[in-house]
Formats: sequence, C-alpha cells, structure tokens
Amino acid sequence: MDYNSKISTQIRDLPRSGIRDFFELVIGRSDVISLGVGEPDKPTPWPIREAAIRALEKGQTSYTSNLGLESLRIAISGYVENQFRVNYDPKKEILVTVGVSEALDIAFRAMLNPGDEVIYHEPCYVSYSPSIKMAYGVPVVVETREENMFALMAADVEKAITPKTKVIALNFPTNPTGGVMPPEELEKIAALAVKHDLLVFTDEIYCELLYDGQQHKSIVEYPGMRERTVLLHGFSKAFAMTGWRLGYACAPAPLIEAMMKVHQYCMLCAPILSQVAGIEALKMGASAYEDMRLSYEQRRNTIVSRLNGMGLHCFNPGGAFYVFPEIRSTGLTSKEFAFGLLDKKSVAVVPGTAFGAAGEGFVRCCYATAPDLIVKAMDLMEEFVNEVRSA
Ligand code: PLP
Repeated sequence: MDYNSKISTQIRDLPRSGIRDFFELVIGRSDVISLGVGEPDKPTPWPIREAAIRALEKGQTSYTSNLGLESLRIAISGYVENQFRVNYDPKKEILVTVGVSEALDIAFRAMLNPGDEVIYHEPCYVSYSPSIKMAYGVPVVVETREENMFALMAADVEKAITPKTKVIALNFPTNPTGGVMPPEELEKIAALAVKHDLLVFTDEIYCELLYDGQQHKSIVEYPGMRERTVLLHGFSKAFAMTGWRLGYACAPAPLIEAMMKVHQYCMLCAPILSQVAGIEALKMGASAYEDMRLSYEQRRNTIVSRLNGMGLHCFNPGGAFYVFPEIRSTGLTSKEFAFGLLDKKSVAVVPGTAFGAAGEGFVRCCYATAPDLIVKAMDLMEEFVNEVRSA
C-alpha cells in the first residue's frame, strides 16, 4: 500500500521532534551520562505516590467529570491564587488536562481558525510550532537573543503583529534557555496584547523553579490580562510528576468551555489516579519542591561556572533546570557538538537547533541530574572541547 498517500499531508510534513530523534540514539546505553531529558532526577515525593496507592486500594478507577475532579479544581484554584494572585472559579474557569502538552494542544485547536497567526519565541519547547500547525494556525517566530538573556523584547513582538495575529504564546522561565522575563518587558507585551485585542497563552510549567531570590510574575497579573489569558500549568516539573501526565488550564469560562469541547472528545478526562495524586501535591505545596529547587540552584551554579571555565560562554539563567551554553568558539555546529560529545565521551546534551533555528550555536544541558554526574559530565566535556580546539 502507498501509505504516504494515506497519511494526512499536514502530519506527513510535520518534522519529528529533534529531542526524540537524539534520544533514540541514547536509549539503552547505560554508559551515557545524560544531561538531555528535561525531567527531575528524583521520583515523585512519597506522600503523593501514597495518595494514589490508597486511591487504587479503594478502587478509585472510574472516569471523572470532563473538567476534572472538583476537589482538584478547588485545590488548583487556591494554588494558582497563591502563585499568581489571580482568582479562578473552580466550577467553570479551570480544566484539568493530560499535562501541559494537552492543554497547549487543545488551546490552539479551540481558539484558532485556519490562517490565524500565533506569535511565539524561539528557542523554545519543541511542541509550540507543531501544535500551532496541527490546529491549522500559522506560527510566527520572534527570536530571543543571548544579549537579552533570552528574554522576549516587546519591540520585537510589536514588529511581528499583523491583522491576522490572534495569540501570543509565552513560556517563562523558558525551556531550553532558562531565561526569565524582566517585568518591564512583560508589562509592555501585556499592553500590546490589550491594544491589539490579542489572546495570550502563558505556559507557566517552570514558574516554581526560580533562583537568586527572584519572585515570579506572570503576564496574567497585568491590567486587562485576566480576561484574555489562558494560563497553562502542571505538575511535571516542580512536583517531579512527568509520568503522571497531569496539567491544567485556567481562563475565562467561555475559553475553558471551548477547550473542554475538544478535551471531552479527544481525552474525556485526565486519569483519576493522577488527579488524586495532584490533590496531595497541591496540599504539600512548596514543601514538595523547595529542597529540590535549592539543590537545582547549586547545580546551576556549578555547571555555569564549569562551562565558562572551559571557554564555553554560558549566561546565568534565572529559572527552570537548563543551561544553554554557546559552543561557537569550538568551530562546531550544535549538532556536530552534540553528536561528537556523545560519540567521543558518552555525554548527551541536546543540539540547540532542536528548539528552532535560533538555537544554532548553542546546546541545551539539563542540570536536574545528580551533582556527581554533572561534575563527571563537565570533566568529559572539557576534555572534548580541548581535543576539538587542538585538532
Ligand atoms: N511546556 C514546556 C515549556 C515544557 O518544557 C514541557 C516539557 O518539557 C511541557 C510544556 C510539557 O509538559 P507536560 O509534562 O505537563 O505535558
């Protein structure tokens, strides 16, 4: 059969995730030190796991309401108010999803008509452009630059706005750069969204992982923004719950209702055991992740200092658990660097180009890895860099 002709052209033309491609090379290789996968190196805190075990013992194995368990939505409302100083009604303004991944996908599918433009920033998480395209939208890239510590400049956003722009999508702290937003730029972007009557999707998945005593501020907190913002958040990173597949969206009721329509047909609901675990996670709050956050901060300090020490310029990122060193001084491309390092020293990092063309000249290292392994990986990377330079 000619399978090519059977598959949707839109899906056929979609690139495979650069991260996945790279990690297929690493899977099953116990000799590799991985600074690759963006997930915590520790399992989910025990009380959260225990809550799910108890639920399973009690036979809680059913579907839930499409919106998610009401008790979880009430807990999310409290947590979000505490984090972002914005109140959402758990009855109609919160939707529990299968991770932020699903929340992003259904937000684009629910809001975009064919040809609507979405402004987003690159380098960024691999899902943005494909999710926009799968919703028949048009991705419009605004590059962030190292000279601005990978923050998004309002002037660049303004230049990208056209009569077809419908959404600005933001993710700060950012995967893969760890960049955070200066409040003055965020405020200007909020003013642009209000002026041009745009929606804003803000992916807050790393908002708990901030360093150097910074306080997180989301775009939803600025005047005129609550009514036009879809706030996307989840449990994967701060609560070390990547495998539970749990997230949520908070937005005005008509937007949640539209997303719910997509969700109810494609997902029905998030898994009940994960939802029960999510209630326990929110009960624990910062006590579930504060030690981890402090440990990440120390690991960040180590890795940034080692990278700069070996002559790979690396800015000090304010959040998430990634560093994005520039590798141009080696004369290699991002891919050559990442594949060479894997081949010669068995250390895995992700080529910056996996996160968009603006990532050329950089690689992403995830430091949610045991501190002794980080040191070993840095020793091996230094050897590699010296060998490349002296070749
Ligand atoms: N958004 C960003 C910026 C991410 O980095 C990730 C995962 O790495 C996701 C969303 C997906 O998160 P989830 O596990 O909640 O689907």
